[in-house]
Amino acid sequence: MVELKNVDVHYKDGGGVDALNDVNIRIEDGEFVFVVGSSGAGKSTLLKLLTREKHPTNGRVFVNGYNMSKLKGRKVPMFRRSIGMIFQDFRLIPHLTVYENVAFVLRVTDKSSRFIRQRVPYVLNLVGLSSRAKAYPPQLSGGEQQRVAIARAFASDPGLIIADEPTGNLDPELSYGIVEVLKDINKTGTTVIMVTHEHDIVKYFGGRIISLKDGTIAFDDYIGGGDEME
Ligand code: ADP
Ligand code: MG
Repeated sequence: MVELKNVDVHYKDGGGVDALNDVNIRIEDGEFVFVVGSSGAGKSTLLKLLTREKHPTNGRVFVNGYNMSKLKGRKVPMFRRSIGMIFQDFRLIPHLTVYENVAFVLRVTDKSSRFIRQRVPYVLNLVGLSSRAKAYPPQLSGGEQQRVAIARAFASDPGLIIADEPTGNLDPELSYGIVEVLKDINKTGTTVIMVTHEHDIVKYFGGRIISLKDGTIAFDDYIGGGDEME
């Protein structure tokens, strides 16, 4: 569960910016949520609260049962393992194969080799990349690289996946496939929060939409997807 209660974020630099203003959000386990809003609306600031990169100026933030204000610094690495992050620019390790990029995150958390040998093929299959396991990221298309990043984020079964504009660097026609993969991961019970400014995608898939405008919530409700319309 993700919950923000009366959250303000004020940045002191640049003359002072109110990036978020009295924001209240509750996201239950297993939801798929699009967060939309124009540039500067506060989307990335919202995600930074959820990963504890940023503390709220006022208000409270809860993620996966942790109160972000009370979470001790030494517990942050353990907390972050309960979240899978996906970025616009993929952030893969170029000199490791697709398989190794995914296996790597499991090795650093001391998963057994037996578990890794089962889990990596499973997640690569889920994102449709079984046949590219031995390729290196620079040999892949942008869409394929983002699928590897999704496989990596999901490898440790994090419970919550946060994607900040994951389709921002991709051709629009590839974006749909990326969201489909995130939807498949959501079907396994994983909560997915995806930030995007691509209105066509949001309209196509529908579901719960949280729209930020100048640091406040302008809309938080469900819309029907275009793929379900008659
Ligand atoms: P979005 O991701 O929706 O484009 P951001 O959360 O990045 O929006 O930014 C929200 C507002 O906060 C903007 O006005 C931005 O300029 C400001 N802001 C973001 N990060 C900082 C920072 N580190 N210091 C000062 N102002 C910031
Ligand atoms: Mg942003």
